[in-house]
Amino acid sequence: MRMTTEIRALLAKRGIRPSKKVGQNFLVDEKVVAREIEEAEIKPHENVLEIGPGPGTITFDIAKRAKAVYVIEKDKRLAAVLKEEMEKRGTKNVELIIGDALKAKWPPFDKLVANIPYQISSGVIERLGKSGKPAVLVLQKEFAERLVAEPGEPAYSRITILARYFFTPVIVELVSRAAFWPQPEVDSAIVKFYPRKTRPEVFDEAFFFKVVKALFSHPNKTAGNALYAARRDFEIGKEKADELKGGMPLREKRVFNLEMQDLVDIANWLFEKMTKK
Ligand code: SAH
Repeated sequence: MRMTTEIRALLAKRGIRPSKKVGQNFLVDEKVVAREIEEAEIKPHENVLEIGPGPGTITFDIAKRAKAVYVIEKDKRLAAVLKEEMEKRGTKNVELIIGDALKAKWPPFDKLVANIPYQISSGVIERLGKSGKPAVLVLQKEFAERLVAEPGEPAYSRITILARYFFTPVIVELVSRAAFWPQPEVDSAIVKFYPRKTRPEVFDEAFFFKVVKALFSHPNKTAGNALYAARRDFEIGKEKADELKGGMPLREKRVFNLEMQDLVDIANWLFEKMTKK
C-alpha cells in the first residue's frame, strides 16, 4: 500500500519506531480515510477537534473542509513530524497542542473526528459526553460493540451506559485490522456519536455514574446483592447496605438485565436515601 510506504518513510527519517504502549497503529487505507471524512460531514464554519493525529493522516483532509482543526498529540516526536508536514503543505488552519488528551484542556470545538488510541477510548467518551458535541471515531471493534449492546447481551456493560447516557452511538462501518500499520491484533469500527436531545433524568450525574460502576462490577448478581457487594464504594457498613438492599427498586433484577431507566430509578432512590440523613 502506498500510504504504508509514505508513513514508514516519514517515521524512519526521524528514527521513530511506532510505540504499542501509546497505541500507535497508523491508518494506511485511503478508502477508510475517505469514509471517515464523509461520515464526519464537516462544514466550512466548523472547528474540529482531533485526538492523536500521528503524522496527520486524516488531519489534512479535515483541514481542507473545516474552519480550523485543533489536534492534541502526546508524542513529541510525532508532533514534530506533523509540524513539518504542516509547513511542507502550507496548512494554516491546524493548531497543534502537545499533551495528553485526557488531561489537557480541550479548546472550544464543534465536532470531534479522530482515530484514537484504544487505551483512552473510555476516557475520551466521558469527556466528549460532558462537552455535548457530536463525534466520528474509529474505535476497536469489541469496544464499539459494547457501546451499542442491549441489556442481557454479553457486551452490555458500564461503558454502554456511559455512552448511551450522552449519545446515540451508531456503528457505520467495520474496518479490518489490515487498514493499519503496524497491524494491530484487533479489528476496528467507524462509530458515529449523536448527542441525545434529552438526557435521562438523574438527580446527580456523578452519583449516577458511581452507582453504574459499582453495580456493573458485579454484573451477574441481582441489583440488591450487587449494591451490598459494592458497599465500600459508598462508604457504608453491612447494616446500612442490608437496609438499602431490602428497600431499593429492582433489587431482584440481575445487573446485566438492568435498562437505562432501571439504573436511573435505582440511582435516584439511593441518592435520596444516602443524602437525606
Ligand atoms: N490518527 C492517526 C494516528 C493513530 S495512532 C491515524 O489515524 O493514523 C494514535 C495516536 O495517538 C498516536 O499518534 C499517539 O502518539 C497518540 N496518542 C496516544 N495517547 C495519547 C493521548 N493520551 N493523548 C493524545 N494523543 C495520544
